[in-house]
Amino acid sequence: MKNTSIDFLHHLLETPSPTGMEIRAQKLWAEYVAPFTDTQNCDAYGSTWAILHSKKKNAPTLMLDAHADEIGFSIRHITDDGFAYVERLGGSDVAIARGRRLRFFGSKGEVIGVIGNTAIHIRDDQDKAPKLWELYVDLGCSSRREVEDLGLRVGDRAVYLDGPLMMNKRLVCRALDDRLCGFITAETARVLHERKISPTWNIAFVNSVQEEVGCIGAEMVTYRLNPDAAICLDVTHATDTPGLSPARYGEVKLGSGPCLCIGPACHPMINERLEDLATRKNIPLQRETSGRTTGTNTDSIFRSRGGIPATNLSLPLRYMHSPIETADLGDVLATVELLTEFIASLKPTDSFAYSLK
Ligand SMILES: [Zn+2]
Repeated sequence: MKNTSIDFLHHLLETPSPTGMEIRAQKLWAEYVAPFTDTQNCDAYGSTWAILHSKKKNAPTLMLDAHADEIGFSIRHITDDGFAYVERLGGSDVAIARGRRLRFFGSKGEVIGVIGNTAIHIRDDQDKAPKLWELYVDLGCSSRREVEDLGLRVGDRAVYLDGPLMMNKRLVCRALDDRLCGFITAETARVLHERKISPTWNIAFVNSVQEEVGCIGAEMVTYRLNPDAAICLDVTHATDTPGLSPARYGEVKLGSGPCLCIGPACHPMINERLEDLATRKNIPLQRETSGRTTGTNTDSIFRSRGGIPATNLSLPLRYMHSPIETADLGDVLATVELLTEFIASLKPTDSFAYSLK
């Protein structure tokens, strides 16, 4: 991977993007893709897209979507003696929250806090996960006044402090879900530019907001862009760690390539093209299935308007929704390669919609 790409990835991961306040990271992403795309825009809530326009007139549009937001916490209550109680922003895992460092974003800038961990010696229920309302945040203050003087109020958000680090060949960080896929769409734009591939379709690279609270940004942006086909990029559970049954969760391995979802939401004609390209170009690709919808932005995309042919291509991830989310950079490169080949394969007359003819 190029050094400039790695620098961008680290910068993107270090930039907090809790659900509902994604705009800082969005600006960074838009700036990176600007040299490789024709236009960059965002909507009222911050979903951001960059379009590479086809030179062909009336070309169809392919949308590549990843979500820009990450899980976190927001302040629910500040006590008289200067502690904060929190609300979960998306699916934060309460069982692993104690003893963790947080970055809060208040009116006077960033404030560090720690989620209190009453010592094991003097704690009741030593082996039990706490309830959300039992978590308290120590901000190093002695009074509510002191907390307010730091610029913190009810509603202010936080994410874990944990930034990126390499663990042998694997990347560990909070929020790889789904910042790593935002990186993949940006890298795909860069690679198309580098290889001088001029797509016959318009390509809309999208970083949508508020996925973690119900796939909301993708709903708005799909309606607006009205694409002819879409590939949604998110993370999926790698099941190659101890204690996970493939019989129950399927077999998905880190380092074995992206994972294509087979299920009612995922259009067979897009899936067929992706699988065919993976085979012909020797790109590793895994399969997973979902019997209903996918639990990703794909669900918002495919049922938008009159139905948008879409699929879900996922990056295998260990320890999802924790500060030690772990991914394999080989999978990132394979996904960029597959998307690049998919875009290069598009002909002006291609359609991924059924017809009765
Ligand atoms: Zn996600």
